[in-house]
Amino acid sequence: MDFQLSDEQIAFQRTARDFLDKEVVPFRAEWDRRESVDTELIPKLGELGFFGLTIPEEYGGLGGDYITYCLGMEELGRADSSVRGIVSVSMGLFGKIVLSHGTEEQKQRWLPGIASGTLLGCFGLTEPDNGSDPSRLTTRAVRDGTDWVITGTKIFITNGSWADVCVVFARTGGGGAKGVSAFLVPTDTPGFERTEIHGKLGLRGQATAELSFDAVRVPADAMLGDEGQGFAIAMTSLDKGRVSVGAGCTGIIAGCLDAVVDYTTQRQQFGKPIASFQMIQDMIAEISVDADCARLLTWRAADLVERGEPIALAASKAKLFASEKAVKAANLALQAFGGYGYVDEYPVQKYMRDARVMTLYEGTSQIQKLLIGRAETGVSAFV
Ligand code: FAD
Repeated sequence: MDFQLSDEQIAFQRTARDFLDKEVVPFRAEWDRRESVDTELIPKLGELGFFGLTIPEEYGGLGGDYITYCLGMEELGRADSSVRGIVSVSMGLFGKIVLSHGTEEQKQRWLPGIASGTLLGCFGLTEPDNGSDPSRLTTRAVRDGTDWVITGTKIFITNGSWADVCVVFARTGGGGAKGVSAFLVPTDTPGFERTEIHGKLGLRGQATAELSFDAVRVPADAMLGDEGQGFAIAMTSLDKGRVSVGAGCTGIIAGCLDAVVDYTTQRQQFGKPIASFQMIQDMIAEISVDADCARLLTWRAADLVERGEPIALAASKAKLFASEKAVKAANLALQAFGGYGYVDEYPVQKYMRDARVMTLYEGTSQIQKLLIGRAETGVSAFV
């Protein structure tokens, strides 16, 4: 692949960083404490094009490439992973799923609003009893005349209590993956209830919710793709979602590097800057190499998307590596900050709390290893 960024990509990266340094970085600690970003930020992110990065221009997006998408997600991750999640789920999971599998009518209905940030989307797959193995999900959609009637519960849904629309995965057939279908459900449909989940360790600025469906009725044209395709649709969407997580985690690692270099070159102990101590430089070197490796693995997956080649394995590797190394980088950075790293005057404790979920959602590290192990050996540990 070509590692040279184009002038447009560099310009976008600069604009994104300048915007986030002004509109997000000064406020992130406060948003974290009060468990909500300032929602007025959302239309501003829309104006800058974050929500439409890879959505084609005909649907109101920028029609950008996947490396530009990674640059945007890295800048968001560096600034505040809560904000990255809001964008990434609405555009990357909801928007891209409609783009890839929707009818022309569904695209026209939802994509312009998603791309401009005037509508927010969410992705409802996980259930209280079915997380790592969504093929067993129990939310059910039953046919009634020309409508579908959905009943069940989803948990830990990012944007859940703010979103205008949710892609809901529900069982329309028998057991297993082939019985699952996907539906585009407006969140104001009668019977659709949302309960915000408070007290998260990290990502405190974004809304995470439990969604319950009490006989939620949607018309036949709310189905996304064909009946029984829902599981496959969810899995291919998560592949692309993992590229975003990889890029966001790269941003966390890069943010840790900036913070730790800045702090340790100023902080004096034993009469000299602590950056001059070999054990501190050991930490900085680890973080620096991990930032490069995470970025390269993520860009490789993004490059495969651009080429139209299979990305599942590359996306799992990028997500696994970048998320584990983001946790490590934040932990090392906090150590290098000493006691000051433990309070929210500095960003490293927030990087650590935000990074911690990255090894859990969109497939835990264990699930990524099983996917990689299956690809390498041809033997599935899932069955
Ligand atoms: P479990 O599946 O119960 O796993 C528990 C442990 O068992 C883990 O360590 C796991 O790795 C391990 N384990 C499970 N199976 C195996 C196996 N076969 N081999 C080895 N180990 C195994 N979901 C959505 O649908 N949409 C969202 O927008 C969304 N956002 C989220 C936001 C946050 C902040 C969080 C915390 C979660 C979010 N999730 C979302 C849910 C997330 O994807 C799940 O939490 C995750 O997939 C794990 O499922 P679980 O929590 O049920 O854990």
